[in-house]
Amino acid sequence: MTDFHTWYSDHRDQIVAWRRDLHAHPELAFEETRTAAFVAERLRAWGLEVHTGIARTGVVAVLPGGEAPAIGLRADMDALSIEEANSFAHVSRHPGRMHACGHDGHTVMLLAAAWYLAEHHGRVGPPPGPIRFVFQPAEENEGGGRLMVQEGLFERFPMQSVFAMHNMPGLDVGKFMVQGGPVAAGFDTFDIVVGASGGHAALPATGGDAVTAAAALALNLQTIVPRQIDAKEAAILAVTRIHGGSAYNVLPDEMRLAGSVRWFNPQVRDEIHRRIEMHCAGVAHGYGVTASLTYEPRYPSVINAEAPAALAARACVDVAGSDQVATEFPPLMGSEDFAFLLERNPGAYLLLGNGSGEGGCLLHNPHFDFNDGAIVHGASLWVALCKRFFGEVQAR
Ligand SMILES: [Zn+2]
Ligand SMILES: [Zn+2]
Repeated sequence: MTDFHTWYSDHRDQIVAWRRDLHAHPELAFEETRTAAFVAERLRAWGLEVHTGIARTGVVAVLPGGEAPAIGLRADMDALSIEEANSFAHVSRHPGRMHACGHDGHTVMLLAAAWYLAEHHGRVGPPPGPIRFVFQPAEENEGGGRLMVQEGLFERFPMQSVFAMHNMPGLDVGKFMVQGGPVAAGFDTFDIVVGASGGHAALPATGGDAVTAAAALALNLQTIVPRQIDAKEAAILAVTRIHGGSAYNVLPDEMRLAGSVRWFNPQVRDEIHRRIEMHCAGVAHGYGVTASLTYEPRYPSVINAEAPAALAARACVDVAGSDQVATEFPPLMGSEDFAFLLERNPGAYLLLGNGSGEGGCLLHNPHFDFNDGAIVHGASLWVALCKRFFGEVQAR
């Protein structure tokens, strides 16, 4: 049995070339046809059982095993609507689209692990349980994870625990972060239409003033978190858009506000939603206008189950050593649609160091690039996690 690092050094050039090929051909949510075909073709070549078309462009591959429970490993495949500003050879060939969140790296790390495991899983001793490799579409904005769950991911491919990993700019390459409990925030959006009869700007008293009411509402909403939510709870409400009006001397009959809410505790989310409704009603009453709210829950918060998170932490220590693994950290205020999988099935979401990069480039930045030096760490973690998972299941 070849150890993963020895195996990787023989396959590294090929795997890095794949990562750069995916980077050069980014595809947006539910359009990942080339990426899905790329993934499926290789998985089939290694003898895995491959299922395509799950949540439109998603791919699930199964490495069969024995009677032990299955483990699920998930990578996201989609890119963003960003014009890439890099000049290296593997820059995006698709105008206005870019792998600015590193999902090209996530896909390739899982592919590399699948390749290695296809050659080694169950080759020594009795085969343990099956491994489900989940290549998910549309992580950004569209909730591809939700659709996979709705299309029966866990019924068709039962798994005891499901894991995902995201790169983390600023964290040194080779370091990991994983903890039980909250890891990434829930995310909702709201739209508010403030209506008035409008009219001549010289006669504000006759029609109700939607502009002033919208301005008041924007200020009032942003007092909800600091003044009306328990200070021990983390949350953000951001008004990000105010549109309306078209002339110097006309009061518009409509102003539109929009924004987003981030939260960890669903009760806090419900309270913020309720307070937004109250502020809409209050402003409508006080300013003599109407204010109608559309509040849309988008992504739940990412909550790691304790046992899978602890198992993942042990696997991180196996590959990196305990000084390279953080197991207690403040949760991230960003969001992640792996939350839909964790809502239905226990599991854990891990973070993997992407290094500081050129200029300390952050996610969703036009200069971002996944760090090829991180592939070996992420892929070896997937392998170590399977080994731990089946080892501990069989020891029970
Ligand atoms: Zn992203
Ligand atoms: Zn991402």
